Amino acid sequence: MDFNKVKLMEKENIMPTYGRFSVALVSGKGATAVDIEGKKYIDFGSGIGVNSLGYCDDGWVKAVSEQMAKLQHISNLYYSPIQVEFAEKLCKATGFSKAFLCNSGAEANECAIKLARKYSFDKYGSGRDKIITLVNSFHGRTVTTLSATGQDAMHNYFYPFTEGFEYIKANDISVLENAAKDGICAVMLECIQGEGGILPIDKDYLKAVRELCNKNDIMLIIDEVQTGIGRTGKILAQEHFNIKADITTVAKGIGAGLPLGACLCNDNLANVMSAGTHGSTFGGNPVACAGGKYVLDIVNNPEFLNEINEKSEWLFMQLKSIPQIKEVRGMGLMIGADIDADAKDIASKCVENGLLILTAKASLRFLPPLNITYDELKRGLDILKSVLEK
Ligand SMILES: *Cc1c(COP(=O)(O)O)cnc(C)c1O
Repeated sequence: MDFNKVKLMEKENIMPTYGRFSVALVSGKGATAVDIEGKKYIDFGSGIGVNSLGYCDDGWVKAVSEQMAKLQHISNLYYSPIQVEFAEKLCKATGFSKAFLCNSGAEANECAIKLARKYSFDKYGSGRDKIITLVNSFHGRTVTTLSATGQDAMHNYFYPFTEGFEYIKANDISVLENAAKDGICAVMLECIQGEGGILPIDKDYLKAVRELCNKNDIMLIIDEVQTGIGRTGKILAQEHFNIKADITTVAKGIGAGLPLGACLCNDNLANVMSAGTHGSTFGGNPVACAGGKYVLDIVNNPEFLNEINEKSEWLFMQLKSIPQIKEVRGMGLMIGADIDADAKDIASKCVENGLLILTAKASLRFLPPLNITYDELKRGLDILKSVLEK
C-alpha cells in the first residue's frame, strides 16, 4: 500500500472527524517514527501525550507482550493480579487512596463526575449536584464531559447536554466565590489547560480554590489526563502547586500507548461508589495494566523525573532563543509556544520536513516522549527552526 491508497481508503471507510496531517505512520523507535514510504520523523507529540516512553520502548514491549501471551482479558467479575499490582503502584505514586480503572480520559472524567455527585447525594440528599468548570477547559468528547468542557464552539449541534455544569473565568477567585452558592458539589479544572492552548493556572488562584472547596465541602476534581504521570516533571502537576485534589483523573501517558485511564480519589471518597454504581467492560484490562505498571516503574523515580526537568529547562532556553517564537509557556515537557505565523500551517510544514509537532489553539504544542534524547530534541528543533525561517 502507498500513502495515496491509505488516504483513499480512509476517506471511503472512516467518518471524517479528524483533520489529519499528510503522513501514514507504520513503525517507530524512541522518538523517531517511520512512514509508509520509509521516511523518518522526529516526534514532538507522543501521539497526543500518549507515548510517554516513545515508540516501542523495549521494556514496555516486553511487559505488555508477556501479559498478552498469558491472559489478554478477564471480566471485572473476577480478580486480576496484574490489575491490583498496577492499581497499588498508581495509588502509591500519586498519593491517592483508591482508583477506578477505565480506558480513556473522558471515561475517567465521567467517573469523577459521578463520584462527586454521589458523595454529595449520600451526605446532603438530592439537588446539590452542580459542577463548576473553567472557560476554555477540555474534559472529553462524551456528551457529559463535553458538557463539562467550557468551550461553546464544541457544543454546537449536540444539544441537549447533561445538566448541571457552569463555566467560570479562571484566575479570579471572586468569580468562584460568587458562583459557589448552594447546589454546588464540585469544581473541576486542569492545572495547565492543554487543548485550551497550554495555559497554566495561577498558583495563588488554585490555592484559593482549594481553600474555598475545603470550607464548603465541595469536591476539587483535577483533570490530569494530559498533565499527569511525569508530563510536567512531577507525577502529578498539582504537586507543583502544593495542593491535592479530592478526585484526580489520569489517562493519556499512563498506558504509554494502550487505552488506560483512572479516576483516583482520596480516603474520604474511597467507598462512595458501591457495587453496581459504576463499571466498564474493558476497564483495567490486564495488558494495559501491565503497560501502566511498567510506565510507573520507569517514571516514578526521582532520577527520571529530574531528567525531565533538566530537558525542560534546556528546551525552554532553546525555544526562547528562536527569534520567531514570541512566548513560551508550560511545565516540564508540556510546552506551548506562540508564533506570529499560523500554527497549523507551520505544523504541516514541519511534518513535510520530518518533524511531528502538535498545535493547541493558536500555539505550537510540545509533548515529546518523556525519555526523548537531547540528540532527538536537537534534530527536531533544527527542523522547526528551518521551517520558521522560511
Ligand atoms: C485528552 C483529554 C481528555 C480526553 O481524553 P480521551 O482519552 O480523548 O477521552 C480529557 N481531559 C483532558 C485534560 C485531556 O487533555
